[in-house]
Amino acid sequence: MSADASPAVPRFVAGPKKNLIGGAWVEAASGRRIEVLNPATGNALCSIAQGDAEDVDRAVAAARRAFEGEWRRWTPHERRKLLLKIHDLVLDHFDELALIETVDMGAPLARTNGLREWTSQVLQFFASHCDAARTETVPNSLPGQFLTLKHLEPVGVVGGIIPWNGPLIGLWWIFGPALATGCTAVLKPAEDASLSVLRITELMTEAGVPDGVINVVTGYGAEAGQALAEHNGVDRIAFTGSTGTARSVVRASAGNFKRLQLELGGKSPDIVFADADLDKAVPGAAMGVYTNSGQVCVAGTRILVQEAIYGEFVERLTAFTKTIRVGDGLDPETQLGPLISQRQLDRVLRYIGLGGGEGARLEAGGNRLGGALAAGFFVEPTVFAGASNDMTIAREEIFGPVASVIPFADADEALRLANDTPFGLAGGIWTESLSTAHLASRGIDAGTIWVNCYGVLDPAVGFGGTKASGYGWKGAREHVESFLYPKAVYLNLG
Ligand code: NDP
Repeated sequence: MSADASPAVPRFVAGPKKNLIGGAWVEAASGRRIEVLNPATGNALCSIAQGDAEDVDRAVAAARRAFEGEWRRWTPHERRKLLLKIHDLVLDHFDELALIETVDMGAPLARTNGLREWTSQVLQFFASHCDAARTETVPNSLPGQFLTLKHLEPVGVVGGIIPWNGPLIGLWWIFGPALATGCTAVLKPAEDASLSVLRITELMTEAGVPDGVINVVTGYGAEAGQALAEHNGVDRIAFTGSTGTARSVVRASAGNFKRLQLELGGKSPDIVFADADLDKAVPGAAMGVYTNSGQVCVAGTRILVQEAIYGEFVERLTAFTKTIRVGDGLDPETQLGPLISQRQLDRVLRYIGLGGGEGARLEAGGNRLGGALAAGFFVEPTVFAGASNDMTIAREEIFGPVASVIPFADADEALRLANDTPFGLAGGIWTESLSTAHLASRGIDAGTIWVNCYGVLDPAVGFGGTKASGYGWKGAREHVESFLYPKAVYLNLG
């Protein structure tokens, strides 16, 4: 494997990376390492520590010590100032962070740089919620004289397990509320995309996060991830990833009844009604599937199109898809980068094969890209028309740029098809009718519905799933409060 010597690769990327435990950068206890590849070139970037149960144990112990130490006495104002300092430092380094994310997980610079404003928003949002761990006086009807209080207390040590499709976003859902509420955290990023997390963690320590308040253990899910999910010193786990792994996280949490937050996969419907403005609906629905090369939990991969406009929609979607520029994310013209790994590429190509085999009509894409891109994990954005909701490509999460376009006759059928899935993460609606938009948005069983848009996300509004897409809300006040537990105090004043 040749090393990636591109001058665009930030200096941070070179050299072996360590874990952050108790404020110190340390090798994995086993001394083992994992090689990190640039998915656009297949070249080696660097190596990360292969943490396992022993490293997790040390990190959880450090997080526990920090939770029970000085950190507990930090005032909301001190924690807010810290979050705002992190905000400033992270934004000052955002060009570098976007580059790191692009070479590590493949997303084009247009996307990674585009997260700058969102990052500012999410950090300011959590900074503005540092008073969430508070005390309320609650009226009581007890005989005698009682003062009854409800304290919201930090749950303690929080474990975060995040996937590779957007670590630059995913880490804030753990570190943001942990710092806002006075919890401490141990984060296990995906071994395929840990570098932006490690660089941000460096910046956070530079900003003054006390030793042990945030810890990062890199490594494989089956070793480090499983150990974190099982650890009895962890009070709450936030997991983002596949439903299969989530089942094992749920089982592992039983040892000490950890609180759980699960944000899992989807097979989201994106419904295009006959009265939709196709100039908006075609690119909107297409990018609802293809963004981040389809490696997005909320991707609207089942495009349900009303029969009256089905032919025209497929034609326009196909034409639009063929204009998309796939390439190395460092090229400013690139719209879609590679998939994360050879494993993910194989998985996506297998689903594409299944689509054709089950009778869907391949209208665009379908192939791995060759030529100058042959060494990377690139696949063409792909359209299957004539798809039906019972085909494997319409039932299982592919996590690649593959759209299944399914016809429907009327709103009842659209909602029946939309809800005929084990998942319930998100959904989209394209219509010019206010009543259709309103009725359909109430009719889809999913945590987030977008009308005449797709994928926008404000941290103050938040998102979450239902059914097999998991539970727990990310963003909004509920998210912060899920890092707290209520404690009642009865003071007998008589
Ligand atoms: P996983 O669910 O296995 O990985 C998500 C995270 O969980 C990673 O950090 C992973 O670590 C970790 N993990 C893996 N096994 C365990 C375990 N036993 N206990 C605790 N943590 C664990 O997803 P994959 O990366 O394997 O992707 C497979 C498919 O899952 C994708 O094709 C996609 O369909 C779906 N997926 C959905 C996501 C979503 O946001 N909806 C996100 C990621 C995947 P590591 O990667 O280091 O092994």
